[in-house]
Amino acid sequence: MSTIRLFYALWPPPQMAASLAGWADAAKQVTGGRAMRTETLHLTLAFLGPVDSALADELAAATPERRLAPGDVPLDRYGVFTRQRILWAGPAETPAGLQQAHDDLWHWLSGYGLTPPTQPFRPHVTLLRNIAHAEPPGDAPAPLEWHYDRMVLVASESLTGGSRYRIVAQSRPQGG
Ligand code: ATP
Ligand code: MG
Repeated sequence: MSTIRLFYALWPPPQMAASLAGWADAAKQVTGGRAMRTETLHLTLAFLGPVDSALADELAAATPERRLAPGDVPLDRYGVFTRQRILWAGPAETPAGLQQAHDDLWHWLSGYGLTPPTQPFRPHVTLLRNIAHAEPPGDAPAPLEWHYDRMVLVASESLTGGSRYRIVAQSRPQGG
């Protein structure tokens, strides 16, 4: 049976993505590395990994009704994942509403036989990969307040030279 690699994410509106691209440029002066393309920037809520295509279809069909309580994420700091050589933007503290969205999502996914991660949720937007210096700039640009009202289900397809993302479904905004 064929599988498809899936994840749920918050996708920034274009203006937020453009601001984050500015964050990436500023950090790159310090850390080096390769900037993610602006239109691919996102905050992963749940990485499912490879899923049978039948289950992928089922999740895509169920996602519009899987409404997300709207909320805000402040993006106010840089961070690095040293081992993965990633520089990211994220909140200094995980907002309670976002943590709840993550926990509720995994609770729902566990009903489909998917296994929640054992690692704590570390909300972040990957900005640079393959950074040369693991020390991020101490000062981040002016904080961004990201208002979200939906999540997207994304298929991550491996191509030579990297992955390509394809949005396969999105949750309906409340009242929408
Ligand atoms: P590639 O791995 O091919 O370089 P990618 O990392 O962009 O590309 P995926 O590995 O499919 O693509 O990951 C999709 C998203 O899920 C990314 O935001 C990635 O950081 C995140 N992710 C991947 N693996 C995990 C994991 N084990 N736990 C949490 N998030 C993950
Ligand atoms: Mg990856």
